[in-house]
Amino acid sequence: MPRKNKAPEYQKTTFYIPCISKKRYKNENEALKTAEIQILQNSGLELSAYKCDNCSFWHLTRSKR
Ligand SMILES: [Zn+2]
Repeated sequence: MPRKNKAPEYQKTTFYIPCISKKRYKNENEALKTAEIQILQNSGLELSAYKCDNCSFWHLTRSKR
């Protein structure tokens, strides 16, 4: 009978992409277009676009003053 203990430590870090749940945009323009819409819908919201090193797509990030 095979014993199933808890997962080995290394599995926790296997190819973990921290941005997997974020929306990805293929270029800055697309990201900014979406940001513009979201800013219109939420006054006071500030978004900026950045290129991601993990997935090489663009993401939006909240920037509060
Ligand atoms: Zn990313």
